Amino acid sequence: MKIGCVCGAVIPDQTDFLSFKAHLVADRDWEDFVDSSGSKKRIDSSYVRLCYQCIQCGRLYVEDASRSLHAFTPEGHEVQVLGSSRGSDWRAPLIGSWNDKPFSGQAKGHLWCDAEGGTSAKFDDWSQLERSYQVLFVQLRKQDRLRSALLRKNGKDVHVWAPDA
Ligand SMILES: [Zn+2]
Repeated sequence: MKIGCVCGAVIPDQTDFLSFKAHLVADRDWEDFVDSSGSKKRIDSSYVRLCYQCIQCGRLYVEDASRSLHAFTPEGHEVQVLGSSRGSDWRAPLIGSWNDKPFSGQAKGHLWCDAEGGTSAKFDDWSQLERSYQVLFVQLRKQDRLRSALLRKNGKDVHVWAPDA
């Protein structure tokens, strides 16, 4: 999904862990939401509405009960309000991927992580990708900045890490 902001910017919603998106539960729904959501694995999304903030102009988009988006403009100042409560200490996923036969124009390898200022790199050499992944993994683990890590090669998991695994 993409939202076209009034200012002309596009607000994309095509990946997880967006810094400009939040899930809102009305105070009048809060107790029902808590009761019906048994655990974090089973969230009752019928109570959850989405919010987005345009990173260009700061406009806030909030879903009403019928899932229509309404825009609100910031008053005199621009501040990003929908980021993690942990701020820059947010734990991010680390993802490395390799494909011997990439789509045309694409690199064979990618390394991506949104922690510590962000990493987004392309690789044409598997061993370089693997080494960079391992270095970043060790560094971010030491800093307690990872929620998960995954390195895949041609569709197969080479390395998988999760805190409770
Ligand atoms: Zn905007």
